[in-house]
Order: sequence, then C-alpha cells, then structure tokens
Amino acid sequence: MELELEPLHLPSDNERPFVIAGPCSAETEEQVMTTARQLSEKGCHMFRAGVWKPRTKPGGFEGNGEKALPWMKAVKEETGMFTATEVAKPEHVELCLKYGIDVLWVGARTSANPFAMQDLADALRGVDVPVFVKNPVNPDLELWIGAMERINQAGIKRMAAIHRGFSSFDKKIYRNLPMWQIPMELHRRIPNLPIICDPSHIGGRRELIAPLCQQAMDLGFDGLLVESHCNPDEAWSDAKQQVTPDVLDYILSLLVIRDEKVTTEGIQQLRRQIDELDNQMMEVLSKRMRVCREIGQYKKEHNMTVFQSNRYNEILEKRGAQASVCGVDPECAAHIFELIHQESVRQQIEIINQ
Ligand code: PEP
Ligand code: MN
Repeated sequence: MELELEPLHLPSDNERPFVIAGPCSAETEEQVMTTARQLSEKGCHMFRAGVWKPRTKPGGFEGNGEKALPWMKAVKEETGMFTATEVAKPEHVELCLKYGIDVLWVGARTSANPFAMQDLADALRGVDVPVFVKNPVNPDLELWIGAMERINQAGIKRMAAIHRGFSSFDKKIYRNLPMWQIPMELHRRIPNLPIICDPSHIGGRRELIAPLCQQAMDLGFDGLLVESHCNPDEAWSDAKQQVTPDVLDYILSLLVIRDEKVTTEGIQQLRRQIDELDNQMMEVLSKRMRVCREIGQYKKEHNMTVFQSNRYNEILEKRGAQASVCGVDPECAAHIFELIHQESVRQQIEIINQ
C-alpha cells in the first residue's frame, strides 16, 4: 500500500541534510536552554529532546514528562528553532499539542507494537502535525511500514522515517546494527517518504557519528537526527553517544554531500542512449567480422596471403581522415582500427587453417 504524503513544510525543507539535533533527554531547564542556544548559533533549525524516556530497565531516568514541555516551548520562542520530541502514548500526543511541539516522533520500541501504534494513530486523527516514525527494534520492514500506514490512515500526511538501527546481541561495533539494505528497500518502495538517519543510536559511541553521517549521505538520506548535549559526559542518558554542538558542527562541516538524485535522474536517459549505441557498435562489429571471414574463405581458395599491406594502409588512412571530420581524434581512430584489423586477421588465419 502507498502512503499518501505531503511535503513536510519545515524551515529546513530545501537543505540536505536537514539536521535535527539536541540532547537525548530534557534534563533541566538550564541544560535544555544552553544546548538549544549553542545549536541555534550553529544554524540548527530543529531541536530534539526526549521528554518521556523509554528505558530498558526500571530505576533509570525516565524523563521529566510534562514539566519539560514549557522548556521546549521556551526554546522555540527564544531561538525560533522547531521542536521535536518522542511520543509513545495518546496522552503524550495530547500534551505535545497543548505545548505546541512542532514534530512528534515515535520511538523504536513503540513502532514495534501495533496496539501502541493504533492508539497513537487514533489520538492523531484530525490533527495536522508532522510525525516521524523510527524503525522498530527488530529488522522487520513490513512492521515499520505498517506502523507508518496506521499513522497515515489517521490523516497524517507529513511524515518521515528515521533509521536508528536494529537491536542485536552482538554489540561489538554498533549499538544497533545499521542493516542499510532495510532503509534502502524502504526508500525504493516509498520514494517520496523523507528518510532520516540517527547515527547516535546506531553507533552508540561518539566516534561513529561522523562515518555514519557520511554513509547516510552517500546512500541518499534526506536528514540526520543527532544527539547533542552541552555537557555530554554528564548526560543523564546516552552519555557515550552525545557530542557538543561545537563537535556536531565540525562533523557536519566535513560531510561530502553528493547529489545522488539529480545526477542519476539526469543521466539515466543519456545512459540508455549510450547502451543502445554500444549495442549497435557490437552488431556492426559482428557483421564486419562475418564479412572478414568470407574474405578469408576467398583468400584461402585463391591462395592469397591473409595480410595485404596496401589494403591495411588504405584503411588506416581513410579512417583517420574520416575521424577528423567526425570529431574523433585521428590517432584514437587509428588505434581502434588497428585493433579491429588485428582481430580480422586472427579470424582469417583461423579460416585458412581449417
Ligand atoms: C531517542 O531518540 O532518544 C530514543 C529513545 O531513540 P530510539 O527510540 O531509537 O531508541
Ligand atoms: Mn538517546
């Protein structure tokens, strides 16, 4: 099933990558405001912070909840940045709308649960707010698409997918395995759905953020969601994978952005023409060799030598002159015809010795 989508209409719409940055969690008003000011100074347009934190085990910091929402509102008022946070329950949606959060995202643990997704979809019916859906923790593309379909069927047309990697027992390199083929297949199936990479939750370590961002860009992702904290080592959650706004700015400044879409679309038709011309050249070459073999047969019957130097010189001369007229370097044409002649001689020798 196709998703019915509309452009996101965000301040960063025309930028690639569009960057969403901010701390894993909104810890204190001061931490939120300091981080937001620093990110805004670096030109960031969208601020993220977790207000409700899904923790694997009880007893950890589970977010400040509603208390943190006025801080997000203050970020928007002071810096002009758009704000984004994670929602997992209908009451989260309601509160985010009350405090004017601009973008809601659904986390990986929630998108794996169709009951929770349907509850969120029902809470979003009749509301116009962009919703970004992270991949489910398990590598199941259908589950990911299903989660997005539920939201879309509730009338949400401004959507994006966030790739944050997939849980696995093996944590040697990545916290969550990237398994790039899955977001790539999603992109192939729903090409107009913007796709964002979250290198922080894939890598789990700050050293991996730069290479993962670059890989996402090389694969044609539209945006990046990166965890950034004014004092990462002291973060209350995900300390190892957060970077300061300064470091993030440096990482982004080193990215090489190749415009995959424009180039391939633009040259696709020309490449088809090249394929067609190459086919024609191969056909002509094969016809030429057939005629050469017939000549070989004639030479055999009339006891003539295969190599006739006059004829060879005549060919090189004539083709050289033709080349200049055709916009091809005569030397290049001479090379090509030397090679063709060599192959013709080889085939005729075969015929004579049969
Ligand atoms: C997060 O973005 O802070 C988060 C909890 O992410 P995920 O749902 O990808 O684990
Ligand atoms: Mn986090």
